[in-house]
Amino acid sequence: MTKEATYLPIAMRLDDARALVIGGGQVAANKLRLLLGRCSDIAVLGRVDDPEIAQAVASGRVTHLGDSITLEALPALLPEMRLVFAATDDFALNRAIAAAAREWRVAICVVDDPDPSTFITPAIIDRTPVQIAISTNGAAPVLARRLRMQIEALLPEGLSRLSRFMQAQRNWIKQAQPDTLIRRRAWENFVDGPGAEQALRGEDEAARRSLEEALSGVPRQGEVWLVGAGPGDPDLLTLAALRLMSNADSVLYDQLIPPAIMDRVRRDAERVFVGKKRSKHSLPQDGINEELIRRARAGERVLRLKGGDPFIFGRGGEEMEALVDAGVTVRVIPGITAASGCGAAAGIPLTHRDCAQSCVFVTGHARADGTLNLDWASLAKKGQTLAIYMGLAPMADLCAQLMAHGLPPEWPAAVIEHGTRHDQRVHVATLATLPALVIERQVVSPALTLVGEVVNHRRIIHHQET
Ligand code: SAH
Repeated sequence: MTKEATYLPIAMRLDDARALVIGGGQVAANKLRLLLGRCSDIAVLGRVDDPEIAQAVASGRVTHLGDSITLEALPALLPEMRLVFAATDDFALNRAIAAAAREWRVAICVVDDPDPSTFITPAIIDRTPVQIAISTNGAAPVLARRLRMQIEALLPEGLSRLSRFMQAQRNWIKQAQPDTLIRRRAWENFVDGPGAEQALRGEDEAARRSLEEALSGVPRQGEVWLVGAGPGDPDLLTLAALRLMSNADSVLYDQLIPPAIMDRVRRDAERVFVGKKRSKHSLPQDGINEELIRRARAGERVLRLKGGDPFIFGRGGEEMEALVDAGVTVRVIPGITAASGCGAAAGIPLTHRDCAQSCVFVTGHARADGTLNLDWASLAKKGQTLAIYMGLAPMADLCAQLMAHGLPPEWPAAVIEHGTRHDQRVHVATLATLPALVIERQVVSPALTLVGEVVNHRRIIHHQET
C-alpha cells in the first residue's frame, strides 16, 4: 500500500502567474473555471470541445496553444507555468504529463487521479474576498461538497460586502491605533457587534461609526476566563467556551485537556502548560494565580481552560478569589463535569427513582500521608450514588472503607476510564472486586468511580467497550 498523502490547504497567488489546462472537454472546463478571474495568464492545450472553453478563447481571456497534445512540446511549455491541470480523457497521457510536470517541479493536478498530482483542488465557497476551501485530502469529494452546502447555508448574504468594508478600513485603523492587541480586539468587538450587521447590509456610514466606537471602547486591562472544557469530547464544549477559546490571547491548561480540545483554541494564542499531575506539580497553584494576574495586567485575555467544570474539584474557586482580590476581571463558564459526562457516555444514570435519590460528588484525592479523610459513615449509605473523582490511586482503601462502614461487598461499582473520549473503557464490578479489576485492566487516569445501584441500570447505548 502506498503511503497516505497529506495536504496543507494554502491560498496561492495567481494574479501574476501563468497556468495551463491540458484538455478541451467538460472536465477541463471545470478546472478552467477555477482559474478564470484568479489567474492573469491562462493557456489551454488540446482540441476545444467544450463551449465554455471555446467562448473563453474567443473572448481572448484564454490563449489556445493548439489542438494536438504531444509530450515533446511540454519541456518548452512547463517551466513557464506556476500550475498545470492535466484534464484529458486519456489516463496514460495525463500520467505522462504529470511525470513531466514533476520533473520540472511545476505544480500539477491530474483530474480524478490524486496519486501523480502534487496538488488537488478543494471544494470552494466563493464570496470573494472571502473564500472557504474544504478538503478531505481527496478521500471523499462528495462529503466535501455536502459540507460546502451546509457551510454555505450558514453564511450571511452580505459576507463579501462585510469583508470589503473591513479591508477598506484597515489603513486608518492601523494609523489610529499602533497597538496590534488593541486593534485586534476592536475588530473582534466590531464583528460581534452591530457594526458587522450594518456593513453586511451595506450601511457603511453607520458601520464606520460602530467601528470608531469599538476602537475607543477597548479596555486596557485584560481579563481572565475560567472556562470548563468538559470531560474531553470536543462536542461537549459549550458555545460560550468555544467563543472564548477562539478569542483568547493566551491559554493556561493542564493534562486534563486533550489535544482534540486544544486544537480548537485560537491558533495564535500562546499556550502555557501548567501541568499538575498527582504529586508532581509543574507549577504550584500560587504560581498559576500569579501568572494569570500578571498576564491580565499586561492586557491579555487569558483563557484558563479546565477539565470538566471549573468549580468542581478544579481549584477554580481559589483562582477566582485570587483574581478578584487582585482587581482582575474574571468570567466563569461552566462545563460538563466528569460525573455527568461519564454517566452519559457509559449509560449509567446518576440518580434513579428506584434506588438513588441523591448523588454525591466526592474527591478521593489522598492527603500527604496517603490516607483519605472522608465522612465514611455518610458515604456508605444505600439510596445514593457516589461519584468519586481522583479515586484511582486509593481505590483499595476507598472500597475497604465503604465496606467497613456498612455497604455490602457485592455493592455495585464501576470505573469509567477516559470517559467520553474515543478510548473510553467502562469497568463494572463490586466493591469487593473493583480494586483488583483496575489493577488487572491497568486502568489509567483520568478515571471516575461510580458506586451505587445505578450501576445495575447500565445499558449499552453506543460503541462502548466493557
Ligand atoms: N473539574 C473536573 C474535575 C477535576 S479533578 C470536572 O468537573 O470534571 C480530576 C478528576 O476528574 C480525575 O481524576 C477524574 O476522576 C475526573 N475526570 C475528569 N475527566 C474525566 C474523564 N474524561 N473520564 C473520567 N474521569 C474524569
